[in-house]
Parts: sequence; structure tokens; C-alpha cells
Amino acid sequence: MKRIGVLTSGGDSPGMNAAIRAVVRKAIFHNLEVYGIYYGYAGLISGDIKKLEIGSVGDIIHRGGTMLYTARCEEFKTLEGQKKGIEQLKKFGIEALVVIGGDGSFQGAKKLTEHGFPTIGVPGTIDNDIPGTDFTIGFDTALNTVIDAVDKIRDTATSHERTYVIEVMGRDAGDIALWAGLADGAESILIPEDDFSMDDIIDRLEKGHKRGKKHSIIVVAEGCGSGVEIGKTIEERTKLDTRVTVLGHIQRGGSPTASDRVLASRLGAYAVELLLDGEAGKMVGIEKNQLVSHDIDEALSRKHTIDLNMYKLSKELSI
Ligand code: ADP
Repeated sequence: MKRIGVLTSGGDSPGMNAAIRAVVRKAIFHNLEVYGIYYGYAGLISGDIKKLEIGSVGDIIHRGGTMLYTARCEEFKTLEGQKKGIEQLKKFGIEALVVIGGDGSFQGAKKLTEHGFPTIGVPGTIDNDIPGTDFTIGFDTALNTVIDAVDKIRDTATSHERTYVIEVMGRDAGDIALWAGLADGAESILIPEDDFSMDDIIDRLEKGHKRGKKHSIIVVAEGCGSGVEIGKTIEERTKLDTRVTVLGHIQRGGSPTASDRVLASRLGAYAVELLLDGEAGKMVGIEKNQLVSHDIDEALSRKHTIDLNMYKLSKELSI
């Protein structure tokens, strides 16, 4: 193998740049040439492909977003789109590909391998929702962004004796809500993996208020419904001054944390190692702080699960 490609796809996440850097440098270290495919699978189909050198990935390890840009591409979900992509790869003499992205992007990587094109997936998403890895690239940074925001909101919540509902990202996965809620000592954490009881939330708030709590924080994953509606219900039922903050895309950006940079560097380099070993159709991950790989197919057939012990702990500590 002489030449590999790398692309980022789907939602961006902080640390993707560090992963691109690791892929490029590890590959060059092993005397491979690396081509960057811009705008994900859309750029793969259109041939937006350029050679990357050691210096092309300089000064990006600390930057959020992705220097290769990203896109969502419906055409790549079709056989025709996938064939066009493979034709472009062949045209550029690219023999294997690293795809950095979320589970949707991994589906594309799986298709390429099925068509005989060796592809390895690197999990990059803030949602931490990919089975086969304890952590995804970007989760730690997003979590720290949420914590920083909630700490600031907490100051004003205390000063005004308010209840704050904070809506965080996570349509199908409650990881950001759970970890942020635990790290921030939230009264209640609402995650899509569990049915929440409004009576329980109200009960906790009222108990806290009676024992003289000056503020309350409720963290809601977006998959649980609108934070605004939940806030309204809480205010109507408790008569406590309640405000809602929807954190939104602030959670996707920013300089990656040390943890995400290290994770991205390890996973990106490991993906290249697997390609050099002749592997294909795998995703890389980290389990118990050890690098692991799984068949993408097998990993995606599993359902991402939340750490129920942590969820239980969050309830025990917020009495
Ligand atoms: P993420 O990778 O962050 O989960 P998406 O789910 O939007 O983001 O997927 C990113 C892209 O991956 C899609 O726009 C599409 O190009 C490609 N993709 C998603 N699902 C498939 C599929 N079943 N087959 C081929 N490509 C897919």
C-alpha cells in the first residue's frame, strides 16, 4: 500500500483536526502518501481531493472543527453515489481510506468496504453514542463546554434564587446530560434512555427549596423534549422562578481538551496501523483505556447504552 485517504463526515466535533493530523503524520512516518478528501462523502463523489504533507496538518491540533470540512451527503447513501466515490479514489490512486465521523459516516465506511475498498472508521462525535468505544472524539470537550456554561448560570441562579433548566445536546444518547449533570450536581437529569417523572422532578425541587437551597439546576438532553416546555411546567407547578437555557451549537465548537487531543491522536494513528496490517471494515475505539478495534458491522448492530450505575449515582447524590 502506497497511498491512503482521509475524510471527516457528518457532524463536526472538537478533536477531529487532531485525528486528521495523527492519520497524516502516522502514515507519512510509515512512508505512505496521504490525500485529504474535503467535505466528506460529497467531496469524495465530486473529487475534491488534495495531497496532504507533514506541514498541511501543522497548527491544527488545538483547533475545533475540521480542516477538511464536513458535509452530509444523501447521494452517498445510494449504490450509484458509492460507486462514483470509489471511481474517484481509484482515479487518485488511493488504496485505503480513514473515515472520521459518527455512526452515519460509519455506515458509509461499511458500504465502501463491502464494495472491496478497505476503510477504517474513527469515532468522532460529541454525543459519545457509538458502540465499541468508551469515548468518542469530542465528547470530553463538549462536556467541559457544558460544565463551564452551567457554572456561569449557577452564579446567576444562586444570586436570583432561580431554578434553571439547561437543555443540552443528545437526541438519542444521554451521555452529555448525564456526565454534565453529575459533574454539576444537578437536581435532576433527564436522558432519552429513561422515562422521566415530572412528579419526581417537582418533588426534588420542592424538597431542596424547603431545606433552603438557593438554586436548582435541571439538565435535559434534547431527546427528552423541549427544555422550554419542561421549564414552563416546572414554573406552573412549583411557582418557583424558572428560566431555561438551550446551549445549542456552542457544544460543538471550541479548542479540544487535552483528553480529546490525546484520544484523537491515539485513534487516528491506530486506524493507520490497522490499514498497514491489511485490516478493513473496522472501527477503532478505546475500552478501559486500551486501543481496540471492532467490525463496524458488529459494532453498529449493538445499541449504545448509558452507564446505569452513574445514572443511579446522580440520583443518590442529588437528594
Ligand atoms: P454522523 O456521521 O455524524 O452520524 P450522519 O448520520 O449525517 O452523521 O451521516 C453522515 C453521512 O454519512 C451522510 O450524510 C451520508 O453521506 C453517509 N451515510 C449515512 N448513512 C449511510 C448509509 N446507510 N450508507 C451510506 N452512507 C451513509
